[in-house]
Amino acid sequence: MSPHPDSPENPLDLLIVGAGLSGVDLAHHVSRAFPTWSWEMHDANSDLGGTWHTFTYPGIRSDSDMATYGFPFAPWPHEGTLGQGADIKEYIRDVAADCGALGHLRTGSWVRDANWLSDRGMYRITTVTQDGERSVHTRRVHYASGYFVHGRGYRPTFPGEEDFTGTIIHPQQWPEDLDCAGRRIVVIGSGATAVTLVPALERAGAHVTMLQRSPTYVAPMAAVDRISAFWRRVLPDRAAYPVSRLHHATRDIVQHLVGQRAPGLFTRALRRMQRPYLDEEQIDQHFTPHHMPWEKRVCKAPDGDLFTALGRNARIVTDTVERFTANGVQVGSGEELTADVIVTATGLDLQAFGGGTLSVDGRPLQVNEQVFYRGMMLAGLPNFSFTVGYINGSWTLRSDLVSRYMVKLWKTGVQVYRPATPPPDAGRPLFDFAAAYLRRSADRFPTQGHSSPWVYSQNYLRELAEFTLGDQRREMVFGDRR
Ligand SMILES: Cc1cc2nc3c(=O)[nH]c(=O)nc-3n(C[C@H](O)[C@H](O)[C@H](O)COP(=O)(O)OP(=O)(O)OC[C@H]3O[C@@H](n4cnc5c(N)ncnc54)[C@H](O)[C@@H]3O)c2cc1C
Repeated sequence: MSPHPDSPENPLDLLIVGAGLSGVDLAHHVSRAFPTWSWEMHDANSDLGGTWHTFTYPGIRSDSDMATYGFPFAPWPHEGTLGQGADIKEYIRDVAADCGALGHLRTGSWVRDANWLSDRGMYRITTVTQDGERSVHTRRVHYASGYFVHGRGYRPTFPGEEDFTGTIIHPQQWPEDLDCAGRRIVVIGSGATAVTLVPALERAGAHVTMLQRSPTYVAPMAAVDRISAFWRRVLPDRAAYPVSRLHHATRDIVQHLVGQRAPGLFTRALRRMQRPYLDEEQIDQHFTPHHMPWEKRVCKAPDGDLFTALGRNARIVTDTVERFTANGVQVGSGEELTADVIVTATGLDLQAFGGGTLSVDGRPLQVNEQVFYRGMMLAGLPNFSFTVGYINGSWTLRSDLVSRYMVKLWKTGVQVYRPATPPPDAGRPLFDFAAAYLRRSADRFPTQGHSSPWVYSQNYLRELAEFTLGDQRREMVFGDRR
């Protein structure tokens, strides 16, 4: 285990904030590239896993295929196209154990502030644990802190909530002991969480109503990953995984491009896929969104599980919530949806850096006035980096690129590095998408520019080339201690 460096005379080489997929990915690369470095990985949660520790609702799974969502250096060990939440958490733990990261992990430790000390050329990190505050000094800090609040979800207040006599649950705080069998459950929402929960609750014996204000694109897909199975049949194991990964990633990019350039073609193809499960009226009423296909993630239904649940003890209603009543939810049409349990699958509450602050010489930086360089460093801030994955593709495709990029930069031996001055028009939201949960939180994040190297592009193949072959000195300042 590395020493506890409380003094500036004995700083860590690196402190990683967050032990989810991104933090563990970086830990893997750092442990291989810098076996003699002293480093720590802090996480506010009580265990590693990030998203996959926090979310435990029934059916919880990825909505990306695991060929791209898994780490590129650790083949996903299960058959399914999508990963079950508990399996993903175990997989993260296995990778952390393999690279020795568990010995560097400090759980229950919230990084409240990272303060760059110009005269010393290092950070003083303030962490908060149940035993109080602690200072750690480190030459570099990397935030793999994700993009949302782990302690609570986004939860609008509905009129009449106090009248409801049943139980209201947000999926981010799912009660361990909830027995769903025979209960009437209304799930409010239309995103990946609602699409996952509804069939899982129905399978558990509940009578479920999915209440959505507006439809989402939902694509049925094979539950078993046929692409990876094909490549495993024709290639040796070592080659099959990277080839499957590239195949999946390229397919997703092509689908995204078709959605963007030929939305009619995209929606017609999707409709063809839905027809074996749904009639035309159901598709028109509940699965034909008003937004364009590329504006939000397309939700997945493995083997059409959502659609088949709708043919059994689940139904879908597309309407607005008028108010909660004693017995359930009254919707715009006047109908009352009776419920014992209402699940508010209303989404995530986004935040940057886990709610902590970044400072320079004791002066906190205004987060939304900062500008991202390549979506991973902040203009002017030395020895700081951050992981954000893809929003429109698999997060891990990008988080691994970011880890490799930073490790390559550190390998040059440069001691102090910072992006130079950003372009004057760099006020574009980091998450430049139509999705409501991204829009409502835009001012909680640094912004980006309009062209390389000041953009966070959503194109894996482009960033793969740029991050691997691009000039790391471009618009960077080295050796400056400010
Ligand atoms: C239910 C759900 C399903 C999802 N499915 C997919 C999917 O299929 N595909 C996809 O691409 N994306 C998906 N996502 C997005 C998901 O968040 C990312 O894929 C990925 O898990 C993010 O990993 P991460 O390690 O970067 O961040 P997180 O998983 O958010 O982990 C960040 C960790 O950092 C810790 N932390 C943050 N700030 C601090 C701080 N200041 N001090 C100490 N610790 C801190 C947190 O406690 C947390 O453990 C999903 C999200 C949700 C909520």
